[in-house]
Amino acid sequence: MILVTGGSGLVGKHLKDILPDATYISSRDFDLTVLDEVHSMMDIYKPKIVIHLAARVGGIMDNIKHPVDYLEENILMNTNILKKCHEFNVERVIAILSTCVYPDKVDSYPMKEKDLFNGPPTSTNFSYGFAKRCMAAHIDSYIKQYNKKWCYLTPCNLYGEYDKYDEHNSHYVSALIKKIHEADDAIELWGTGTPLRQFMYGGDLARVIKYVIDNNIVASFNVAPKKVYTINEIANIGKKACGKDKLIINYDSTKPDGQFRKDVDSSKLLSILKDFEFTTLEEGIGKVYDNFSKRYNQ
Ligand code: NAP
Repeated sequence: MILVTGGSGLVGKHLKDILPDATYISSRDFDLTVLDEVHSMMDIYKPKIVIHLAARVGGIMDNIKHPVDYLEENILMNTNILKKCHEFNVERVIAILSTCVYPDKVDSYPMKEKDLFNGPPTSTNFSYGFAKRCMAAHIDSYIKQYNKKWCYLTPCNLYGEYDKYDEHNSHYVSALIKKIHEADDAIELWGTGTPLRQFMYGGDLARVIKYVIDNNIVASFNVAPKKVYTINEIANIGKKACGKDKLIINYDSTKPDGQFRKDVDSSKLLSILKDFEFTTLEEGIGKVYDNFSKRYNQ
């Protein structure tokens, strides 16, 4: 039996498309910050495999305003899940980190898995990054002490059709598409437009998770397309997808840019999933816009 936490989120919904027989849990079913609720969940389902997607996830401003919440909620959820997976003898745990776990700056890019502890995470989402980094240390400790076949995947920024479009919960690409779609002549984006980002289609991460399960892969690695874009380049791809090439993009440099770059190397992934092909950003953003248009025009 496969149990998926965070089943109502962006990645959870993409995973459900290709792994429909697993059980998908949201915060409405169990609050994973509460140990007793995690115990009840494990007792009911007695899973063999747990895919742990649930997390407190949010944008820069929410991270800056609520660092305690990001640290405590993520540490509690991750700790409760891992403790109960151990107690209930869960054979496989596949947990999801984020490239926010990596140091703010390193000597050379893209960052490799070995760079994880080479400096503090960036200040704008330090609590989120640090809590997720703790989960890596926690899983590595379970492997050392109890010889577990557990692992974690570290994806870059994600986007996909299943995103929410409300102001506080949407991810970057969906918020961008909505903004472009609703604009007349110009939009304003935060920061300078110069930071570098890797963006991955949520369905690609779902395919990697399924491969790891189907092929009994026990390895922890980065998951990100090779190509790195500036925020401005991503905005231009968004304009094109929405058919608004002439839209003007203004940048509010009084607002934070976030980490300048956090691109990661996926050669370990590609040594395991040899022929894996990522969805291009142009294709993926096109899919998001098509889906958005259908929902928006209903
Ligand atoms: P999401 O869309 O924000 O969904 C978060 C999920 O976690 C939802 O199912 C939510 O349930 C659940 N959750 C939150 N708090 C909970 C709690 N206290 N108890 C139980 N469930 C709780 O996240 P996502 O984008 O799918 O991200 C999936 C994973 O990938 C996360 O671990 C995230 O850190 C990681 N990640 C995401 C990105 C990105 O750009 N989105 C990038 C790198 C890594 P409700 O729907 O009921 O609230």
